[in-house]
Amino acid sequence: MARKKIIAGNWKMNMTPSQAVELINTLKPLVATEDADVVFCVPAIDIIPAIEAAKGSNIEIGAENMYYEEKGAYTGEIAPDMLTDVGVKYVIIGHSERREYFAETNETVNKKVLKAFEHGITPIICCGESLTQREQGITIDWIRQQIKIAFLGVTAEQAKTAVIAYEPIWAIGTGKTATTEQAQEVCAAIRVCIGEIYDEATAEAIRIQYGGSVNAATAPELFVQPDIDGGLVGGAALKPDFGKIVNWK
Ligand code: PEP
Repeated sequence: MARKKIIAGNWKMNMTPSQAVELINTLKPLVATEDADVVFCVPAIDIIPAIEAAKGSNIEIGAENMYYEEKGAYTGEIAPDMLTDVGVKYVIIGHSERREYFAETNETVNKKVLKAFEHGITPIICCGESLTQREQGITIDWIRQQIKIAFLGVTAEQAKTAVIAYEPIWAIGTGKTATTEQAQEVCAAIRVCIGEIYDEATAEAIRIQYGGSVNAATAPELFVQPDIDGGLVGGAALKPDFGKIVNWK
Protein backbone atom coordinates (compact mmCIF):
# COMPACT_ATOMS: atom_id res chain seq x y z
CA MET A 1 0.00 0.00 0.00
CA ALA A 2 1.35 3.41 -0.95
CA ARG A 3 2.22 5.61 1.99
CA LYS A 4 0.58 9.04 2.06
CA LYS A 5 3.14 11.81 2.13
CA ILE A 6 3.32 13.96 5.24
CA ILE A 7 4.71 17.45 5.01
CA ALA A 8 5.21 19.28 8.27
CA GLY A 9 6.39 22.77 9.05
CA ASN A 10 8.51 23.38 12.12
CA TRP A 11 8.05 27.02 13.03
CA LYS A 12 10.65 26.86 15.82
CA MET A 13 10.64 30.02 18.01
CA ASN A 14 9.02 32.23 15.36
CA MET A 15 5.61 33.90 15.01
CA THR A 16 3.60 35.62 17.72
CA PRO A 17 0.00 34.40 18.06
CA SER A 18 -1.30 37.19 15.81
CA GLN A 19 1.43 36.55 13.23
CA ALA A 20 0.55 32.85 13.38
CA VAL A 21 -3.06 33.57 12.46
CA GLU A 22 -1.97 35.82 9.61
CA LEU A 23 0.45 33.20 8.24
CA ILE A 24 -2.13 30.42 8.42
CA ASN A 25 -4.67 32.57 6.61
CA THR A 26 -2.10 33.25 3.88
CA LEU A 27 -1.02 29.60 3.58
CA LYS A 28 -4.44 27.94 3.86
CA PRO A 29 -5.31 28.11 0.16
CA LEU A 30 -1.71 27.41 -0.89
CA VAL A 31 -1.36 24.13 1.02
CA ALA A 32 -4.76 22.70 0.10
CA THR A 33 -4.31 19.15 -1.19
CA GLU A 34 -5.61 15.66 -0.63
CA ASP A 35 -2.33 14.06 -1.67
CA ALA A 36 -0.47 14.74 1.57
CA ASP A 37 -1.05 15.24 5.27
CA VAL A 38 -0.12 18.83 6.11
CA VAL A 39 0.97 19.67 9.64
CA PHE A 40 2.08 22.99 11.12
CA CYS A 41 4.09 22.46 14.30
CA VAL A 42 3.94 25.77 16.12
CA PRO A 43 5.14 27.32 19.41
CA ALA A 44 2.97 26.33 22.39
CA ILE A 45 1.39 29.77 22.76
CA ASP A 46 0.34 29.74 19.10
CA ILE A 47 -1.43 26.38 19.26
CA ILE A 48 -4.93 27.57 20.22
CA PRO A 49 -5.15 30.51 17.79
CA ALA A 50 -3.56 28.33 15.09
CA ILE A 51 -6.20 25.62 15.56
CA GLU A 52 -8.94 28.25 15.31
CA ALA A 53 -7.39 29.78 12.19
CA ALA A 54 -6.90 26.37 10.53
CA LYS A 55 -10.53 25.30 11.01
CA GLY A 56 -12.17 24.17 7.79
CA SER A 57 -8.81 23.58 6.09
CA ASN A 58 -6.63 20.48 5.65
CA ILE A 59 -4.01 21.84 8.07
CA GLU A 60 -3.40 19.90 11.29
CA ILE A 61 -1.71 21.75 14.12
CA GLY A 62 1.14 20.06 15.96
CA ALA A 63 3.36 20.94 18.90
CA GLU A 64 7.14 21.35 18.81
CA ASN A 65 7.72 19.61 22.13
CA MET A 66 5.94 17.92 25.02
CA TYR A 67 6.97 16.65 28.43
CA TYR A 68 6.86 12.97 29.41
CA GLU A 69 5.11 13.42 32.76
CA GLU A 70 1.35 13.79 33.16
CA LYS A 71 1.33 16.94 35.32
CA GLY A 72 2.96 18.56 38.30
CA ALA A 73 5.93 20.65 39.32
CA TYR A 74 7.68 20.97 35.95
CA THR A 75 7.75 24.72 35.43
CA GLY A 76 7.59 25.74 31.81
CA GLU A 77 6.69 22.33 30.41
CA ILE A 78 3.64 21.28 28.40
CA ALA A 79 1.74 18.10 29.36
CA PRO A 80 0.26 15.69 26.80
CA ASP A 81 -3.28 16.29 28.09
CA MET A 82 -2.89 20.02 27.47
CA LEU A 83 -2.20 19.26 23.83
CA THR A 84 -4.96 16.71 23.26
CA ASP A 85 -7.49 18.91 25.08
CA VAL A 86 -7.22 21.52 22.32
CA GLY A 87 -7.00 19.05 19.45
CA VAL A 88 -3.28 18.61 18.83
CA LYS A 89 -2.57 15.38 16.92
CA TYR A 90 1.19 15.58 16.27
CA VAL A 91 4.26 16.48 18.29
CA ILE A 92 7.87 16.84 17.22
CA ILE A 93 10.09 14.82 19.54
CA GLY A 94 13.88 15.04 19.83
CA HIS A 95 14.60 17.77 17.30
CA SER A 96 18.37 18.30 17.13
CA GLU A 97 17.90 21.82 18.56
CA ARG A 98 16.18 20.27 21.61
CA ARG A 99 19.03 17.77 21.91
CA GLU A 100 21.69 20.49 21.57
CA TYR A 101 20.25 23.35 23.65
CA PHE A 102 17.92 21.58 26.07
CA ALA A 103 19.91 18.45 26.88
CA GLU A 104 17.45 15.98 25.36
CA THR A 105 18.88 12.50 25.02
CA ASN A 106 17.86 9.30 23.27
CA GLU A 107 16.39 8.21 26.62
CA THR A 108 14.22 11.30 27.14
CA VAL A 109 13.16 11.03 23.51
CA ASN A 110 12.00 7.46 24.19
CA LYS A 111 10.03 8.57 27.27
CA LYS A 112 8.32 11.30 25.27
CA VAL A 113 7.55 8.96 22.38
CA LEU A 114 5.91 6.45 24.75
CA LYS A 115 3.91 9.21 26.42
CA ALA A 116 2.75 10.64 23.10
CA PHE A 117 1.43 7.23 22.01
CA GLU A 118 -0.23 6.74 25.39
CA HIS A 119 -2.22 9.90 24.65
CA GLY A 120 -2.93 9.17 20.99
CA ILE A 121 -0.59 11.88 19.71
CA THR A 122 1.52 10.98 16.67
CA PRO A 123 5.19 11.66 17.36
CA ILE A 124 7.41 13.04 14.64
CA ILE A 125 10.64 11.51 15.90
CA CYS A 126 13.78 13.33 14.81
CA CYS A 127 17.15 11.75 14.22
CA GLY A 128 20.26 12.88 12.41
CA GLU A 129 24.02 12.97 12.39
CA SER A 130 26.50 15.82 12.79
CA LEU A 131 28.96 16.73 10.05
CA THR A 132 31.77 15.14 12.06
CA GLN A 133 29.86 11.88 12.34
CA ARG A 134 29.20 11.90 8.59
CA GLU A 135 32.88 12.52 7.90
CA GLN A 136 33.81 9.71 10.27
CA GLY A 137 31.56 7.35 8.31
CA ILE A 138 29.38 6.49 11.30
CA THR A 139 26.11 8.06 10.09
CA ILE A 140 24.10 4.85 9.72
CA ASP A 141 25.34 3.34 13.02
CA TRP A 142 24.48 6.55 14.85
CA ILE A 143 21.00 6.82 13.37
CA ARG A 144 20.27 3.13 14.02
CA GLN A 145 21.16 3.68 17.68
CA GLN A 146 18.87 6.74 17.88
CA ILE A 147 16.01 4.77 16.31
CA LYS A 148 16.47 1.66 18.44
CA ILE A 149 16.34 3.66 21.67
CA ALA A 150 13.49 5.93 20.53
CA PHE A 151 11.30 2.87 19.83
CA LEU A 152 12.02 0.90 23.03
CA GLY A 153 8.68 -0.34 24.39
CA VAL A 154 6.72 0.94 21.37
CA THR A 155 4.42 -1.71 19.90
CA ALA A 156 4.36 -2.56 16.20
CA GLU A 157 0.83 -1.17 15.92
CA GLN A 158 1.99 2.14 17.40
CA ALA A 159 5.17 2.20 15.31
CA LYS A 160 3.15 1.83 12.13
CA THR A 161 1.54 5.20 12.82
CA ALA A 162 4.75 7.01 13.81
CA VAL A 163 6.60 9.53 11.70
CA ILE A 164 10.39 9.64 11.66
CA ALA A 165 12.18 12.76 10.47
CA TYR A 166 15.71 12.17 9.22
CA GLU A 167 17.44 15.52 9.63
CA PRO A 168 21.20 15.71 9.12
CA ILE A 169 22.24 18.39 11.62
CA TRP A 170 24.62 19.95 9.10
CA ALA A 171 21.70 20.57 6.75
CA ILE A 172 19.34 22.25 9.22
CA GLY A 173 19.02 25.99 8.70
CA THR A 174 22.24 26.06 6.68
CA GLY A 175 20.84 26.18 3.18
CA LYS A 176 22.83 22.96 2.57
CA THR A 177 20.35 20.23 1.58
CA ALA A 178 21.59 16.63 1.63
CA THR A 179 21.84 15.16 -1.85
CA THR A 180 18.93 12.96 -2.86
CA GLU A 181 21.29 9.97 -2.69
CA GLN A 182 22.40 10.81 0.86
CA ALA A 183 18.82 11.39 2.04
CA GLN A 184 17.45 8.26 0.36
CA GLU A 185 20.32 6.10 1.67
CA VAL A 186 19.67 7.04 5.29
CA CYS A 187 15.86 6.90 5.02
CA ALA A 188 16.17 3.41 3.48
CA ALA A 189 18.49 2.36 6.32
CA ILE A 190 15.96 3.64 8.86
CA ARG A 191 13.26 1.53 7.20
CA VAL A 192 15.53 -1.53 7.36
CA CYS A 193 16.14 -0.84 11.06
CA ILE A 194 12.38 -0.61 11.72
CA GLY A 195 11.96 -3.92 9.85
CA GLU A 196 14.56 -5.52 12.11
CA ILE A 197 12.95 -4.19 15.28
CA TYR A 198 9.42 -5.13 14.16
CA ASP A 199 8.57 -6.71 10.82
CA GLU A 200 8.17 -5.99 7.13
CA ALA A 201 4.62 -4.66 7.51
CA THR A 202 5.69 -2.09 10.10
CA ALA A 203 8.67 -1.02 7.97
CA GLU A 204 6.39 -0.57 4.98
CA ALA A 205 3.80 1.43 6.93
CA ILE A 206 5.96 3.88 8.88
CA ARG A 207 6.46 7.28 7.29
CA ILE A 208 9.95 8.73 7.07
CA GLN A 209 10.52 12.39 6.28
CA TYR A 210 13.65 14.18 5.21
CA GLY A 211 14.41 17.53 6.84
CA GLY A 212 17.24 20.00 6.30
CA SER A 213 16.93 23.14 4.17
CA VAL A 214 14.10 21.70 2.05
CA ASN A 215 12.74 24.32 -0.34
CA ALA A 216 10.44 24.46 -3.34
CA ALA A 217 13.33 23.65 -5.70
CA THR A 218 14.68 20.60 -3.83
CA ALA A 219 11.39 19.10 -2.58
CA PRO A 220 10.40 17.30 -5.83
CA GLU A 221 13.67 15.39 -6.23
CA LEU A 222 13.67 14.42 -2.53
CA PHE A 223 10.00 13.44 -2.24
CA VAL A 224 10.12 11.20 -5.30
CA GLN A 225 12.65 8.91 -3.59
CA PRO A 226 11.18 5.53 -2.63
CA ASP A 227 11.88 5.81 1.10
CA ILE A 228 11.19 9.52 1.59
CA ASP A 229 7.57 10.10 2.58
CA GLY A 230 7.63 13.87 2.83
CA GLY A 231 9.53 16.52 4.71
CA LEU A 232 10.00 18.38 7.95
CA VAL A 233 10.52 21.96 6.89
CA GLY A 234 11.89 24.84 8.98
CA GLY A 235 12.65 28.17 7.32
CA ALA A 236 10.60 27.60 4.18
CA ALA A 237 7.52 26.72 6.26
CA LEU A 238 7.18 30.40 7.18
CA LYS A 239 6.83 31.55 3.58
CA PRO A 240 4.35 31.11 0.74
CA ASP A 241 6.98 28.75 -0.69
CA PHE A 242 5.59 26.17 1.71
CA GLY A 243 2.58 25.88 -0.60
CA LYS A 244 4.92 24.87 -3.43
CA ILE A 245 6.64 22.30 -1.20
CA VAL A 246 3.30 20.76 -0.22
CA ASN A 247 2.14 20.71 -3.86
CA TRP A 248 5.54 19.49 -5.06
CA LYS A 249 4.26 17.20 -7.84
C1 PEP B 1 13.94 21.91 10.94
O1 PEP B 1 13.78 22.84 11.70
O2 PEP B 1 13.56 20.79 11.26
C2 PEP B 1 14.54 22.17 9.64
C3 PEP B 1 14.74 21.18 8.81
O3 PEP B 1 14.87 23.48 9.35
P1 PEP B 1 15.31 24.07 7.92
O4 PEP B 1 14.30 23.56 6.92
O5 PEP B 1 15.26 25.54 8.09
O6 PEP B 1 16.67 23.54 7.62
